[in-house]
Parts: sequence; C-alpha cells; structure tokens
Amino acid sequence: MNTFSETEFRRKFPILQKLNKDSGLIYFDNAATTQKYKAVIKTSQNFYQESNANVHRGSHFLSAKATESFEIVRLQVQKLINAKSAKEIIWTKGTTEAINLVAQCFGLTNLSAGDEIVVSQAEHHANIVPWQNLANQIGVVIKVLPLDKCGRIDLVQAQRIISSKCKLLAINHISNVIGKINPIEQLIALAKGVGAKTLIDGAQSIAHTIIDVQALDCDFYVFSAHKMYGPTGIGVLFGKQELLEKMPPYQFGGEMIKKVSFTGTTYNTLPHKFEAGTPNIVGVVGLGSCLELFSPSFLTPMTEYEQRLCQYAYQGLTTIPGLEFLVEQQPDIPLFSFTINDLHHHDVATFLDSKGIAVRSGHHCAMPLMDLFKLDGSVRVSLAPYNTFAEIDELIKQLKLLVQGDETDQTSTSIKPSLESINTPDQTQIINLFNKANSWDLKHRQIMLLAKQLPRIDKQQRTDDDLINGCESNSWLQVSLDLTTKQLSFMADSDAKVIRGLMVIILSAYQHKTAEQIIAFDISNFFSQLGLMQHLSPSRGNGVRAIVERIEQLAASYL
Ligand code: PMP
Repeated sequence: MNTFSETEFRRKFPILQKLNKDSGLIYFDNAATTQKYKAVIKTSQNFYQESNANVHRGSHFLSAKATESFEIVRLQVQKLINAKSAKEIIWTKGTTEAINLVAQCFGLTNLSAGDEIVVSQAEHHANIVPWQNLANQIGVVIKVLPLDKCGRIDLVQAQRIISSKCKLLAINHISNVIGKINPIEQLIALAKGVGAKTLIDGAQSIAHTIIDVQALDCDFYVFSAHKMYGPTGIGVLFGKQELLEKMPPYQFGGEMIKKVSFTGTTYNTLPHKFEAGTPNIVGVVGLGSCLELFSPSFLTPMTEYEQRLCQYAYQGLTTIPGLEFLVEQQPDIPLFSFTINDLHHHDVATFLDSKGIAVRSGHHCAMPLMDLFKLDGSVRVSLAPYNTFAEIDELIKQLKLLVQGDETDQTSTSIKPSLESINTPDQTQIINLFNKANSWDLKHRQIMLLAKQLPRIDKQQRTDDDLINGCESNSWLQVSLDLTTKQLSFMADSDAKVIRGLMVIILSAYQHKTAEQIIAFDISNFFSQLGLMQHLSPSRGNGVRAIVERIEQLAASYL
C-alpha cells in the first residue's frame, strides 16, 4: 500500500472482513492489541514455509537467508525511530520485558538506596511493578508525578518533583487509559537538567506518532509490535549505545556469548548481548511487514483520518446522558475512558459485547490511576484507522439504548423467570431458559433479567470478609446453615449486574443444598449446558470460577 485510503486500509485486515461478515463484529479494543495486517500474516506464514531456519548460527544457505530477513528488520526499526545505530535496537517480548530489562540491567547496577525513580500517576502496571521490585531489591524510592485536569503529566508539579535525587524518569508517552500525548520533550529536558536518565513507554504512541529518539534525546524508548498491527510476543527496547554497552546481560545462554569455557565466559557485542537464546524470529520478520504503515507519507494521512474518527467519536460520546470521561477535553488519539451513571463498567461492556461491539472494561492495568479517580474501573473504547464512522454510530446508538434502559429492562416474550424459580433452585428451568435463548444477545438479556431477582445485601452488612477474591468487580457471598436440615443458604451480591445475574444461575445449583451435595455437584457440566462459558471474558469467566470456589470453600467448612 503506497498511500492511505480508509477503505483500502480496512481491507488489509482479514479478521475484520471475516468477523464483520460472520457476526458484524465491531472491534474497539485496539489499545489492548490491534488486529493484524495482511502482509504480517502472509510474511509469517511464508517464513515458516520457505525460509525457516535458526538465525546467526547456521552455516548453511537457509540460515543465512533467515538471518538476513531478521537483521533487515532491525535496520528498519532503527530507521523508524531514528536511532543512531542498529546496535541500539534490542528485541524483547514486548514493552513489559523491555522495562524489566532496564530495571534489572540498568537499575541494579546504576542506582542505589535513596535514589529516586520518577513515574507518573497514569502508568501501566508494566511501568510501575518492575520499579517496585527494584525498590525491594536495593531501596530506590518511587516518586509519582501528578496529572493536570486534562490527564497529561503536570509540568509545573514535575519541576518540583524531579529533583537532584531523581536518577531515572520512567513515563508513558501516551497513557493507555487517557489517550493524551504527554509533554515528554519538556519532561526529558527536566530530567536531563538534574542528570537523570529517561525511559519512555511508547506502547500506545508508536502507532500514532512519528518517533525520533535522537530528537527526543531519551535514553530508553520501548514498545510492542502487537499494538502496531504486528505480531504478539515481539517488542523493542531502544537504548543509547553507551548505556547498553555498560549494562550487564539480562539473560544468559546461547547467542549472547562470545566464548564459553569452564574457566570463564565472555559476552557478545550489542545487540546480541541482550538476546539470549533463539529469538522470536517469525515475530521480527512479521514486524518488518507492518513497518511500511509508519513511514511519514503513510502515517500522516492515516493519523489525519484517525483524528477525524477521534473527533466524531468524542462528539458522539458527549451526547450520551450520564457519560463522564475520566479527564477533561478530547483525547489526542481515539482512546476514550468513561463511566456512565451508576452502570457498572462490566455491565456496559457485556451489553456492548452482546451487540457485537468489543470494548474493554476494568482497571486497564492502571490501578493507581483508578485509585486517583476513586473508581474500580471504567469502560475504554479505543479505535484504529480501520474503524469507520458507521461503527461509531452503532456504538452511540447502542449506548443510548442502554442508558434509556430499553435493552436490559425489556422482558423477553418467551422467557419469564419468576422469583420463585430462583428461590426454589431449579437447574432444569435455568437450562431451559438458556436453551431457548439461542444467541449471545438473548442469553445476555436473560442474565440481566435474572440479576433483578437477586435480593441486594444491605451495604452495612457487606463486610470485607465476604468479598470474593478473583472477581474483577466487588462481589460478596454470605452463608448460613439450617441446623435441622443441614442445608446451606447463600446471599450473594455484586457491584456488576452481569455478575448478579450469573450469581442467580450459580445459586440455582447450590441454594438450600447440604455441604455434601454442594461438593459433589458438577458445575462445569451445568454451565456447558447453558452455552455460556464461551461468551464470558476471562475476567467474568474467572469471576464465575471464583464464586463457585468460594461456595465450595464455605461448604467444605461445614463438612
Ligand atoms: N505500557 C502501556 C502504556 C501499555 O498500553 C501496555 C499494553 N497495554 C504496556 C505497557 C504493556 O505492553 P505489553 O503487554 O505488550 O508488554
């Protein structure tokens, strides 16, 4: 593809053609991972079919061919981010591994107790936890930069916090929750002013902006290929050569050595010193095939289209009653995080999922940011340039229906569960309900209807001891024993309506049973008869498992 055209671009993503045709899927979870560019899929398959061999070490034609394809991509990535040398491009599994590498190889050897690492309030866990681990190892101190009202790192506060004690500034270029471009040029300058090194987490920026690491003059820049229409399991650590030279290796084994003997081993030169073992060859080669999308002549019109989508979606979302963005003003990339009235974020996401719209809900691996907003999560809609205005229209339409209550409150004509059916657990009836609901949309509706039948536990009566570990929403379970019948009765509640509905289903199997009956019951068989598990995301699926485990645990204590 030489120039960007929105229709042509969309056609280059086979999954969108297929899912759109089969199920009308609208994919708005691009900040989690982007869909894969056709050339990436083709190159990866071709590599396995035509060029597969290990790199660097073979003394045969195929290995030389594989090595050439592999190393060409390093040069392309060097060019993409304008690094001085290909030695500064280190392959990693992704952003997370790149940050861990810097923490262990730069942090452990260059920092000491009392030195400060400055991050921002809006970091992904990948740019928090490796530093916390380092703090546990050597006593460095983590300082946090606050955000301004628009969600960007606050420069005024940064001047105060980035002091001479700061030895490393590790911040995101664009937050995966907020979607605003941080003033990293000024922040890097502040850090350099106090002699600190800088690491920029570019996971969310690499697909949206031109990156020039020499102009930025950052010491490290990290990103993942899977957020740029490329393969999973491959990412990049850019590091300034003089720093990388002085850092010890990350992992040890083949590839990263020059000479090994039992009297001593010498390490390879850059970049191989940091690439122990057989690398993700097909990942690198696949990444090479999406880089054409980031040449300035392609990226510029692509981001222009993206900006139009951004503005359109922002305006549409502002018309939803009760919708509140986490921060003020339109984001710089089409990535929107919001809450809607008292609707739980999981309920919004499952509702949209039942309408074929994939969005993310939860804490987005940014729990400290959620704490700042006093939220346990939000809904996140993130677009890519293969999305369309019509898809945004559909999202807005569905959100309006949800808010008006047209959807979840609508009683389905053929299926009307009664309160009695829940109080008197009847799995057969539940199975019948779900068998009649033959689409995810209808099943979802049933879950939401069932949710209404679960009596809420009074807020004062819900204690932390009742909290169910493993549910992404706050969920509680209480039990009581009838001494005469030895039957157990459960009270359950959750912040998320979808979880309350699932609780009704689970309780239909366990309510008023003895501990022995509960332990003996085969819940997975029950759930597979309902045809539900394939529609529950891992977090909700795990939520179901967590509720069941808690019930079984409580039952076991009565055996
Ligand atoms: N940082 C940011 C800002 C991210 O968005 C992500 C991915 N969501 C990561 C780090 C971690 O990236 P990966 O999972 O590819 O290592």
